[in-house]
Amino acid sequence: MKKYNFSPGPAKINDSVLQIAKKNIIEFEDSGVSILEISHRSQDFQSILDQTKENLKNLLNIPQNYKILFLQGGATFHNTFIANNIPQEKSSSNLVTGTWGQKTFEDFSKIRTSTKKLLTSENIEEFIENKNFQINKETDFMHITSNETIEGIQIRKFNKINSDLIIDSSSDIGSYNFNWDNISYLYAGAQKNLGIPGVTISIIRDDFIQQNENPVYLNLKKLISKDSLLNTPPTFSIYILKLVTDWMLDLGGVSFFEKQSKEHSESVYSLLNKYDNYVILPVEKYSRSRMNIVFNFKNEKHENLFINEALNKHIIGINGHRSVGGIRISLYNSIDKNMLRYLLDFMESFFKKL
Ligand code: PMP
Repeated sequence: MKKYNFSPGPAKINDSVLQIAKKNIIEFEDSGVSILEISHRSQDFQSILDQTKENLKNLLNIPQNYKILFLQGGATFHNTFIANNIPQEKSSSNLVTGTWGQKTFEDFSKIRTSTKKLLTSENIEEFIENKNFQINKETDFMHITSNETIEGIQIRKFNKINSDLIIDSSSDIGSYNFNWDNISYLYAGAQKNLGIPGVTISIIRDDFIQQNENPVYLNLKKLISKDSLLNTPPTFSIYILKLVTDWMLDLGGVSFFEKQSKEHSESVYSLLNKYDNYVILPVEKYSRSRMNIVFNFKNEKHENLFINEALNKHIIGINGHRSVGGIRISLYNSIDKNMLRYLLDFMESFFKKL
């Protein structure tokens, strides 16, 4: 029985992508071998790598002066990787809006001196609404997490920050357009909007890439010079990234998914608002994520009831993160109209019965 997967990641993959992957697991494009078997040094893999980079450039409008790198170790490894590659004489700070940004700050601080800026919800409002809030260029680089997957807090207007940014966009990459003006380094694990675990995409402005004496897998410049082939890359994860980005471009690129995620998230939030006698939305309007919709029931007993009834309807992945509880519905790019309709119908009938 096919499930309706609203998981926070690894997340649903579009069926057409799975069909192509299935065929190529058996035999990759008449090559006589499975995609799982091909050498990372083969011409076949080189063209997958090149096409994947081309797709990302087109999809995200990446300017000429940025390099793309595929690494293993997840976004978590990047806390160590990036901190080790910021030149020592440069200063950095971390804008913390939730759990993942806090973890990055903790790891950065073990490797270099980093200051933390905790955004209160009031600060976020001022910042997002562009009122008075100005982060002065006190540091050379500022790390932000554009979408806090656990808390459901999203900052899309990061171009207004007056600092060079290092952005963890693991849980919202490819869901809205932005410009690259103040971005030094953007990275994302693929397993939410762009594919499966195993590969992390890094997009790095040329001037960030400096020579240093780091060991090889911590050495940004060396890894770039070998074009993601310094050691064996996660070939299958990169292949899926190619298929997902093909599929995204076919549908109309990021603009299509931006419109979709606006519509989808608005319809879920408005349903929750309609039933606000039963639920609490902990995130203020201006920073509500379009990717991860978080809510709590006023009556705790309703929480398990909701999860269990959803399971009976084959809806999975909606439990809040174990650190915060509640409900979290993830609406990544692969959630289509039909899935959304199914979810909304279930929620509406659940609330009506209460
Ligand atoms: N950053 C964000 C925003 C995340 O959502 C996650 C994972 N959910 C991570 C970092 C950690 O990613 P990984 O498990 O790939 O290391």
